[in-house]
This record gives sequence, structure tokens and C-alpha cells, in this order.
Amino acid sequence: MEAFALNADLHCHSDVSDGTLSPESVAARAHANGVQLWSLTDHDEIGGQHRARRAALELGMPFLSGVEISVTFAGKTVHIVGLGFDIDDPALRQGLAATRGGRGQRAREMAQALAAVGIEGAYEGALKYAGNPELVSRTHFARFLVETGVCASTPEVFRHYLAEGKPGFVPHRWAALADAVRWVRGAGGMAVIAHPGRYHFTPLEEHAFFSDFKALGGEGVEVITGSHRPEEYGRYADLALEFGFYASRGSDFHSPDESHTDLGTLPLLPSKLIPVWEMLAERVHTP
Ligand code: AMP
Ligand code: MN
Ligand code: MN
Ligand code: MN
Repeated sequence: MEAFALNADLHCHSDVSDGTLSPESVAARAHANGVQLWSLTDHDEIGGQHRARRAALELGMPFLSGVEISVTFAGKTVHIVGLGFDIDDPALRQGLAATRGGRGQRAREMAQALAAVGIEGAYEGALKYAGNPELVSRTHFARFLVETGVCASTPEVFRHYLAEGKPGFVPHRWAALADAVRWVRGAGGMAVIAHPGRYHFTPLEEHAFFSDFKALGGEGVEVITGSHRPEEYGRYADLALEFGFYASRGSDFHSPDESHTDLGTLPLLPSKLIPVWEMLAERVHTP
């Protein structure tokens, strides 16, 4: 089989960050959906990696370590996926702990901002949904606002309350791009731009982002992702070729109830691209 034709899913979340399923349940769902190479990429946290790897290998499913790091670049939040790193690397663990560090305070400020528009108890409400108290995310607030009937769905909560410029949005400074790439590479992994179509950069800003990322040692970009509209696949396939980036594929699955893209169900990578897993073959854990 040609490498591009592999049903790899290298981007998804468990309840160690803002998914709703345990790492073991995400592994089982990926396997049931025919995923042939799997990576769990929780936000700013690799506390679920040993469990995920064990579950994958028990199912006979090859596994790559993964993480999705929150980064502030040019005043915007972008996400960098790390793949195939050493799970126990101390500098990576320390960097991620520092990145998570501001989330508690931010969550309190978000709750205050929501209280100012009449929504009480959001901090406690969000915390109840957070499987990991160090990782309270906007997604957990969204679930609370759906539970209390403020909005009908989590995307609606984001549109009305949690997106930039909305009443519950609190600006936050995440990791620097240089640090995120350095932590991943230092631990033997590959840094990959997550869902570039989501950032609303102008073409010029996007070019600067890709160039800076490459200059810092970044090597990959997500082309086929549940966070892209199908019209965007071609644009990022072309940019991958232009920049010489390896291409990745992942559903960005969070929950059976909320995610529109299930694990392992996206189109395959275009055959003209070099998949990230071709370069990471030695980092794959096999059963
Ligand atoms: P945070 O890292 O706390 O800022 O939360 C970011 C997370 O919110 C993302 O990883 C998504 O899971 C979720 N998210 C962001 N925008 C939306 C949206 N428009 N609809 C639903 N979920 C979203
Ligand atoms: Mn998320
Ligand atoms: Mn993301
Ligand atoms: Mn994600």
C-alpha cells in the first residue's frame, strides 16, 4: 500500500483535555472505525499518552505520541501539533505545564465576564465538565452553557459568548511559537501546523506564519482535517508543496455528541504529498 493511502488519524482529544471520552474509549473508537495509525493530541497536556499507547497496542493499532500546543503568534492564537516525541521528555513536560498554568486564572476571569452579562456560576459549572482540573477550556464553559439552556449547541455558545470580541472571551498569552517547536523537536518529535484554515490570516500573514514556522524547525502541516472545509484541502496541499512541509491528517474529534467528523472518516491525503508518518516511521509504536 502507498503511504498516502493509510487511514491515519493524528489529531483528536480525550477527557484529559476537552474531549468527552477517556483515552481508552477514543482508542477503541478509532480502531472500530478502521484507523491504521493513531495519535491522541490533547491540548497542552500529555498526561494521557501512556494510557493511549497501551490501549492502542492492546487493540493492535500502531500509535504515535501526540499533543496540540496553544501558541500566541502575531497576537493570534494558533495551534501546533507535536507528533512522535518522547513522552517522558522533561523539557517538553515542563513547557506544557507552564502553558497550562494560566488556564485556572483565565477560567475565573471568563466566569466573571459571563456573570457581568447575567450568567452565574460558570466557573464551577465548567470545572464540573473538566476531566483534568489543570485543563479548563472554553469547550467546558460551552458545555455548561448548553446544559443551562443559554444556547442550544456548543458552536452557538462560541458564536455568541466565547469567540474573540464576545462577552465571555478573555485574551490570553499562550506559548511562543519558537518554544513550542523547540519543545517538540527537543523531545525527538515533529512540529506540525494544526488546521491552518481556521486562523483567518490574510495570505500575507499566513505566508509569514508558515515561513517563521519553517525557519524555527517546523516540518509539517495538517491538510486533511475535520477543522477544514473540503474547499480548503487543495489550498493547503499546494502550500505544503510550496514550503516543503510533510502533510498530516486528523479528525480533530472531541465527542460523539459534538463532533461533526468522526475518527478515521476523512478523505485520504492527496497522493502528491509526503505524509508525516513517512518521516516518523521510527517513532511509531507497533503492537
Ligand atoms: P481554549 O484552548 O480553552 O481556548 O479552547 C479552544 C477549544 O474550543 C478548541 O480546541 C475547540 O475544541 C473549541 N472551539 C473553538 N472554537 C469553536 C467553535 N466555533 N465551535 C465549537 N468549538 C470550538
Ligand atoms: Mn479542543
Ligand atoms: Mn486546535
Ligand atoms: Mn484539536
